[in-house]
Amino acid sequence: MSEYDFDLFVIGAGSGGVRASRVASAYGAKVAVAEEHRVGGTCVIRGCVPKKLLVYGSHFAEDLEDAKNYGWTIEGASFSWPALRDHVLNDVDRLNAAYTTTLNNHDVHIFHERATIIAPHRVRLASGQEVSAKFILIATGARPFVPEFPGSDLCITSNEMFHLDALPKRAVIAGGGYIANEFAGILNALGTRVTVVNRGNTILRGYDEQVRDRLLQIYMTKGIEFKFKAPFEKVEKREDGTLDVYLTGHDPIHADIVLFATGRVPNVEGLGLGHVGITPDDLGAIPVDDYSKTSCDSIYAVGDVTNRVQLTPVAIREGQAFADTVFGDKPSTVDYGCIPAAVFSQPPIASVGLTEGEARNRYGNIRVYSSDFRPMRNVFAHRAERGLYKMITEEPSGRILGLHMIGPDSPEILQAAAVAVKAGLTKQAFDDTVALHPSMAEELVLLK
Ligand code: FAD
Repeated sequence: MSEYDFDLFVIGAGSGGVRASRVASAYGAKVAVAEEHRVGGTCVIRGCVPKKLLVYGSHFAEDLEDAKNYGWTIEGASFSWPALRDHVLNDVDRLNAAYTTTLNNHDVHIFHERATIIAPHRVRLASGQEVSAKFILIATGARPFVPEFPGSDLCITSNEMFHLDALPKRAVIAGGGYIANEFAGILNALGTRVTVVNRGNTILRGYDEQVRDRLLQIYMTKGIEFKFKAPFEKVEKREDGTLDVYLTGHDPIHADIVLFATGRVPNVEGLGLGHVGITPDDLGAIPVDDYSKTSCDSIYAVGDVTNRVQLTPVAIREGQAFADTVFGDKPSTVDYGCIPAAVFSQPPIASVGLTEGEARNRYGNIRVYSSDFRPMRNVFAHRAERGLYKMITEEPSGRILGLHMIGPDSPEILQAAAVAVKAGLTKQAFDDTVALHPSMAEELVLLK
């Protein structure tokens, strides 16, 4: 008999926690997981999945318009936000049930309540029950950050976007990151007048400059307004429930919703880290070693709460590597090189490896190849939008250091090309590959 109730107690049933739980259990460990909201976590319940469904749903506006040029007459087309919202929420329910079933099938005990750490091998549940475990895994993720200012309580975050009663006529979106730009695209496509407000002077910091400039240009053409260097002063509510947004140095904006997408902070508040000597870093993240172990030997942490790379596939890999290391006798670390990423804006952006600026700073001798083209389907639909693909190579070897794309379906195309970048292939290998014609992806093997 073990001296503990469980071999592993996981706090948080999101991307990292679910993977770690079921893999550890498959290795023979007795596992429990606590989830205070819904099994599946951010990605499934209020992140990647419902977001992507809204992107698909909103894109029909453009597709239906373009369909005319392809010979279709679509009479009486109309859109219902409640219908899209409810279908998306139904799919979230389906996935929530599927994740719960996976955990049940792996004999993982689920506590549907909040857990906090009270000792290196002990957690306390919201009900007051205490449970002991040989190992504890913190997989509590992150939450939206909203700065404090007068009226900040009138603003919403991405969490609430999936539950709006009605489609707003006017929306102000604070932030310049991927979540802000994705919701800007969704709402704009659905007919909302969108203003993106940014404290700085750029969107999508960290992405290739030319690619993000292209998105800015396309978004402005689509009617999205941008206000840069515009810190929030206050938000006030009118009698009719609409909002007035006051920004320093800009005219006030009248809006139905104000969405804050200004970053996500690790969920460590009230977790009991002080009881086990774990000190979060300056950004509130839990410091871990290469094997995701914290400063306390029996406690590990994976996913957004460690703020390494806040993406679902990374949290999943970290959860897998943790379970392999601790329960599978296969010490494993995660390779953080060449992680592909996308912005599901309209059109989307996809990227892997170094940007031109990063490559120049790190390697000096680089070469940039690009293709600035109008996708065939846009030409036919009389849509002026151009795509842009960029490849950065190290010279003289020609090894690819980065690939950056904006254009229809670019995340789908980039995932495959990322394999080549990760494998260290050269520009020559792309040149040696015959184009698949006609496609947008063929631009990748025709770069000049
Ligand atoms: P989470 O999935 O957040 O899971 C943590 C869980 O812990 C939550 O369910 C929470 O309720 C629970 N919890 C917290 N504290 C406690 C406690 N004390 N006790 C019990 N339970 C607790 N990533 C991508 O890769 N691609 C995308 O397109 C993408 N889009 C996104 C869009 C949005 C709007 C958002 C918000 C995020 C998006 N992400 C995307 C990021 C992705 O969702 C996260 O990186 C991922 O979910 C992190 O997984 P995790 O396991 O670390 O945490």
